[in-house]
Amino acid sequence: MSDLPDELRPDTLALHTGIMRSGANEMSEGMYLTQGYAYDSAEQARDAFAGEIDVYMYSRYANPTVTMFEDRLAALEGAERCFATATGMAAVFVSLGSILSAGDRLVAAKALFGSTLQTFANFFEKWDIQIDYVDATDNADWERALATPAKAVFIESPTNPMQDIVDIPFVAALSKKAGATFIVDNVFATVLGQKPLELGADAVVYSATKHIDGQGRVMGGAILGSSDYIDGPVKLMIRNMGATISPFNAWVLLKGLETLPVRVRHQAANAMNLAAWLEQHPGIKSARYPLLPSHPQHEQAVKQMTLGGTLVTIDLELGDDIDPAGPEAQAAAFRFINALKLFTPSNNLGDAKSISTHPATTTHNKLTADARAEVDIYETTVRLSVGLEDVEDLRADLEQALKAV
Ligand SMILES: *Cc1c(COP(=O)(O)O)cnc(C)c1O
Repeated sequence: MSDLPDELRPDTLALHTGIMRSGANEMSEGMYLTQGYAYDSAEQARDAFAGEIDVYMYSRYANPTVTMFEDRLAALEGAERCFATATGMAAVFVSLGSILSAGDRLVAAKALFGSTLQTFANFFEKWDIQIDYVDATDNADWERALATPAKAVFIESPTNPMQDIVDIPFVAALSKKAGATFIVDNVFATVLGQKPLELGADAVVYSATKHIDGQGRVMGGAILGSSDYIDGPVKLMIRNMGATISPFNAWVLLKGLETLPVRVRHQAANAMNLAAWLEQHPGIKSARYPLLPSHPQHEQAVKQMTLGGTLVTIDLELGDDIDPAGPEAQAAAFRFINALKLFTPSNNLGDAKSISTHPATTTHNKLTADARAEVDIYETTVRLSVGLEDVEDLRADLEQALKAV
C-alpha cells in the first residue's frame, strides 16, 4: 500500500487501497473469521493490555478484514480515519451518542431516515438532549437554530425520500461558529457523488447495507472523520457497547467497494435518464432528481454533488378531483407499484436490482399524514431506486405500469 502512486482516482483507490496480505500472499483479500488472536508470550499479552504495543487482541476491538474495509473506505472518502459498525443505524447512533451528554443541544434537519428520528425521539430526548429541528432547505432557519451554541448538527442530503438538498458549506460554517460537530449521513449521494468533508463537515456516516454492498446481501455501516474523533469517542463507544461489524460482512463490503464506482455511475446515469423522461410523462405530476433543472435546489445540488444519486422520487398525476393524501390516491399508487415487473417492492435502496417503495405506508408510516405533508410525502409519492438493468427495459416497464394507474 505504501508504494501506491499519489493522487489516485476513485476507481483505482477502490481496488488497490487497504490491502493487507497474509504470508500466503493471497490475491483476493483474506476473510479472518476469528474472535481472537494468539499472543507470542505472557509478556506480549501484558504489553497489549497496557496499550504499549498495537496488536490485534479481540475482534470486538479490531479484525484484519474489518481494517481492510475501513482503510479502503477512508481512502475513497479522503478521511483520516474510518470505523466500521454492525449497521448504518449503529453508525448514526454512535456518531452522535459518543459525543452528546445530558443537557447538550443537537440541531438536526426535520427530514431524516425513519430510524434516526425514532432514536432521537425515544432515546436522546429521554436522556435530556435538547433537539432543535430545522427545515433542511431553509437557510434562515439554520441561522436561527445555530445562533446559540450546539454540541452537534446532523443532516442527510439529499433527504429521504424527497431529495431535498441542504446547503452543506453554509451549514458547516454556522456549525463551526456554534462550536458543533457537523455530521452528514451521505447514503443517498454516495462517496462517488458528494464529499461532505471537503464541503466543511466534520464527519460522515454510511449505511454500507445500501450502495456499498449494492447486491442486498449484508448489513454494515461506517463513521469517517478525524483521528481525534474516530480514535477517541467513537472507538471507545463501539468497542465497549459492541456494535462491531462481523468480519464476514466486512469482507463482502470490502469486495463491494471494488465495483462501487462502476455500479454507482451506471445506476446514476440510468436514474438521470429515467427522471428526465418521467417528468415529461402525462401520468406524472413531478419527478425529483437532484441534477434535473426542475429540482427546487438544483443550483445548490450542482455546486456540491458530482453525481445525482441512484434514486428518483415521483408523484403520480391523478387530476384535481382526487385528494393526494386520501385512499383513492393510495390505491392508484399501489396499482402502479404492483404493475411494475422490474422494480421490486422493497425498502432497501442502492441495489443492483431496481426497487419501488411507497414511503407513506412503509418507511414513513410512523409519521402522521400532517407530518408527512410537511416534508411533501403523499399517498401519490413513490420512491424508485434505479438499478443496473438496461435503461430501455426499465423505461418500458414504467410506461406499462403508468397505464395501469
Ligand atoms: C438505510 C439507512 C440508514 C440505516 O442503515 P441500516 O444499515 O439499515 O442500519 C441510515 N440512513 C439512511 C439515509 C439510510 O438510507
